[in-house]
Amino acid sequence: MKLVILGPPGSGKGTYSSEIESRLDIEHISTGDLCREAIEEGGEMSEKIKKYYEKGKLVPDKFINQMLKEELKEIDMDDFILDGYPRTVEQAKFLDGIIDLDGIIRLDVSDSIIIERLSARRICKDCGEVYNKLFLKPGEEGICDECGGELYQREDDRPEVVKDRLEKYKKRSKQVLDFYRDKIPFEVLKVEETSLPIDEMVDKILEKAERKNLLS
Ligand code: AMP
Repeated sequence: MKLVILGPPGSGKGTYSSEIESRLDIEHISTGDLCREAIEEGGEMSEKIKKYYEKGKLVPDKFINQMLKEELKEIDMDDFILDGYPRTVEQAKFLDGIIDLDGIIRLDVSDSIIIERLSARRICKDCGEVYNKLFLKPGEEGICDECGGELYQREDDRPEVVKDRLEKYKKRSKQVLDFYRDKIPFEVLKVEETSLPIDEMVDKILEKAERKNLLS
């Protein structure tokens, strides 16, 4: 199964993809995680990516396409759920040239839910585990359950950066969706509550995927 999950920043696509990864035993590829890893590693590439990442701007297609291609090679282009990519029509075209997707699930979430969720999102400085003060709280406030690391708010999750990210997301995602229309099986899942339990959301996503025979 080669599946893309599309949704605005903060729609929960990363969290749901991780859960799908463990339920179905397939790879979860997040280009956001690839960027964070590249920044952590340091060096020339790190500086190039950091400049965009910290402002909530998209990393140029040529860097992100290269990172994705290398990651796909590592997993032998096998089954995966791809989250955070493609974000531009150029990325969609690039992906189309190297892989045949089975389907796309799009999460449809209102701006107000997104802003509420992202202001509450916290990440572990040490292991990258993601928490949310609304629906995915750590046992002890500010401390990671997995490794005891300190939790922080991503630079690009601050409300003033989020609003700008959302506007740009809408414009670009329309172009990406137009590119895929009539090409690839498509399902839309409307998210109407801020904090639905993760299991429930993943059940709904998988039901949608099943409806299009994507799980066989
Ligand atoms: P995410 O964790 O998916 O919200 O991504 C965090 C940041 O990583 C984005 O704001 C971009 O700076 C960068 N990024 C992740 N995926 C992409 C992509 N497909 N294209 C360009 N930049 C990306």
